[in-house]
Amino acid sequence: MRVLGIESSCDETGIALYDSEKGLLAHALYSQIALHAEYGGVVPELASRDHIRKTLPLIEQVLTEANLNRSEIDAVAYTAGPGLVGALLVGAAIGRSIAWALDIPALAINHMEGHLLSPLLEAHPPAFPFVSLLVSGGHTLLVDVQGVGQYSLLGESIDDAVGEAFDKTAKMLGLSYPGGPILAALAERGIPDKYEFPRPMTNRPGLDFSFSGLKTFAMNTWRNSAQMEQDKADIALAFQTAAVETLAIKCKRALKQTGHSTIVVAGGVSANKALRTRLDAIPNARVYYPRPEFCGDNGAMIAFAGAMRQSAMVKQTVPTFSAKPRWSLNELSPP
Ligand code: AMP
Ligand code: MG
Repeated sequence: MRVLGIESSCDETGIALYDSEKGLLAHALYSQIALHAEYGGVVPELASRDHIRKTLPLIEQVLTEANLNRSEIDAVAYTAGPGLVGALLVGAAIGRSIAWALDIPALAINHMEGHLLSPLLEAHPPAFPFVSLLVSGGHTLLVDVQGVGQYSLLGESIDDAVGEAFDKTAKMLGLSYPGGPILAALAERGIPDKYEFPRPMTNRPGLDFSFSGLKTFAMNTWRNSAQMEQDKADIALAFQTAAVETLAIKCKRALKQTGHSTIVVAGGVSANKALRTRLDAIPNARVYYPRPEFCGDNGAMIAFAGAMRQSAMVKQTVPTFSAKPRWSLNELSPP
């Protein structure tokens, strides 16, 4: 089965074609970073309008790259949530319309399930069960994964997502948008142990996270420093070290609690090198990541999730669709 995947939940238009037998055939990504940069964050209305401009041309591009005609698409998978409602509705409307026009089935995909399954696109995929750490701009989740659609939420952030904390700390330090990768690059020039930041919520039991205090701690440290370039780098490193160490402590705890020995990491922050080094050092654990280009939002993970759920794909008799701005992984069931 050849699945067309459409991702439009936030500020990236991602399109891909996945073949259940041959694997990924082609994919394309358009990032709206430049569009939102002057506002310092994603402007939902601008995001929706840009998805409208980019989705169809990217679908044409991917079909050309895969050397396929429209008639050779067997099914459509589109992100239906969680995310920005207007942005989601663009992908849902286009996905459902294509399926209707081609008389093929379509399926609404949960964006977080897409991220969670994305490391399975690689050549040596992890086997179930595993602990999934989902770290993005909007979410920080620890999930017990028994199989496709068999998810139990172990813990989540009670305030800012870890990517959001990276971005806000970067903004406060005067770095450009989106700050996460820029802060990570700056941290490489920081002096280790110059500042000691807290590891929030690690001294009590449980698997929830809190990252907003870390951002405030970084702000106060900056205000009380000489505010030289080196202070910026030192604070960036102290912040990153604390965030990474906190994630690692909770991952170890989640492995112990579930009895699993595999961690699967995904989402934009899974590109962070310090996080990868720290997680790789956890004793007796195997850690899997998506390839760097699939850490952030992309169409490949949505097409792949669609292929994993092909038994749930149905042709619609009436072309209706909806978006779910909030959609917990706990609500999903196996295909
Ligand atoms: P996503 O929400 O999955 O699209 O991922 C975007 C988030 O990942 C943003 O908050 C980025 O700042 C963050 N991010 C991307 N690369 C890195 C990195 N190398 N280190 C830390 N955060 C990152
Ligand atoms: Mg995402």
